[in-house]
Amino acid sequence: MLEKVVIANRGEIALRILRACKELGIKTVAVYSKVDKDLMHVRLADEAVCIGPNASTDSYLNIPRIISAAEVTDATGIHPGYGFLAENAGFAEMVEQSGFTFIGPTADTIRVMGDKVAAIDAMQKSNVPTVPGSNGPLDDDNERTMRIAKEIGYPVIIKAAAGGGGRGMRVVHSEAALINSIFVTKTESKAAFGDDTVYMEKFLENPRHVEVQVLADGQGNAIHLFDRDCSMQRRHQKVVEEAPAPLIDPDARAQVLKACTDACIEIGYRGAGTFEFLYEDGRFFFIEMNTRVQVEHPVSEMVTGVDIIKEQLLIASGKPLSIKQEDVKIQGHAFECRINAEDPVSFLPCPGKINQFHAPGGLGVRVDSHLYSGYSIPPFYDSMIAKLITYAPTREEALKRMEVALDEMIIDGIKTNIPLQKDIVRDANFGAGGVNIHYLEKKLGID
Ligand code: ADP
Repeated sequence: MLEKVVIANRGEIALRILRACKELGIKTVAVYSKVDKDLMHVRLADEAVCIGPNASTDSYLNIPRIISAAEVTDATGIHPGYGFLAENAGFAEMVEQSGFTFIGPTADTIRVMGDKVAAIDAMQKSNVPTVPGSNGPLDDDNERTMRIAKEIGYPVIIKAAAGGGGRGMRVVHSEAALINSIFVTKTESKAAFGDDTVYMEKFLENPRHVEVQVLADGQGNAIHLFDRDCSMQRRHQKVVEEAPAPLIDPDARAQVLKACTDACIEIGYRGAGTFEFLYEDGRFFFIEMNTRVQVEHPVSEMVTGVDIIKEQLLIASGKPLSIKQEDVKIQGHAFECRINAEDPVSFLPCPGKINQFHAPGGLGVRVDSHLYSGYSIPPFYDSMIAKLITYAPTREEALKRMEVALDEMIIDGIKTNIPLQKDIVRDANFGAGGVNIHYLEKKLGID
């Protein structure tokens, strides 16, 4: 069993990882930037090491400093959380080469899934359904490119193989714009990601975002924890998530869930992971795999009863999966609202001091947050400050519970997106379930 884990992250996820470690009797080391000395998990960890100044590049993204923190504290493993270095294959490699356990997949897996062309190729080998597309990079042969686009049918989307965070994509509606759009996407991709490989996919016009949570031990066993719907997005950022995804064709669901676990076994996947799909007209289309724990993992935990972070720690300790697929059952429904320190109208970040924090409670209410009264949110990092999760036997009850919980939550001193969340949970179409990924932006008047 892992003895001591460095938590290479901050905020709510650092606290979430700390709690799971404590429950398993694993010692914890918090690493923090100067301004983060008052973070809740820094206070609660067995040891804490300041790894540098406030800028992420000097602290949470600084690989040598994180590895030295593990060395000086005699830690045995490093948990990257999400964001920061979580999907950096070089980091995973360095962690293992330095003699520590990386709590996640192998560096090779991270590398393959980080290259979207390679990822799609791996998925097709395992019969995971993908978006009709170029099946490989676009080359200099313009005739061939135009032929592929015609076969797929306009609109098409040009995507950077190395892209991420919703960047490096361009939709093309006609042949006249195709070659120039590819040129622009290549140039942007080279500048942003240092790689100008691009590929083409059919642009789906009204899809939902539905994803599948998996756990695999790298020893030949893999299970899924069913699906989540994360279609409520603004600028490709998820705002509300739920599990299970509502109104999904049962046969398509059964097939995709099996394809995901088969793919995990095929590629020798280890750890927690998420297969992201677009879902349109009763069909799933793979877009990418995230090789880490995700922000929205709690909704799957609530409906399956499986503690995903604990499972990550057990898998990293070399234990075979203890849960069998037939033992994973969906019970009830869960929602998660991401609470951000931001202006609810302009969406500008709103860091500052929390004068008073009151977390809602009661049956089926979970708050994953590092906030406390008197805490100051620094301006240097992501604006997400809390995740409010509700769980109930039915979707309707879980949504009503969210309405009540949002009304009860007090974060005084800064602006938050709670007003926006209240508006979303009372929206009749959202209430009916199954709205697509453009719904929120249309509602907000952004097009
Ligand atoms: P990233 O790694 O940048 O998040 P993804 O491949 O996951 O990139 O795509 C991000 C978002 O872009 C998707 O959630 C979806 O909204 C949109 N998108 C990507 N591919 C397509 C497609 N083929 N058709 C329609 N929308 C797409």
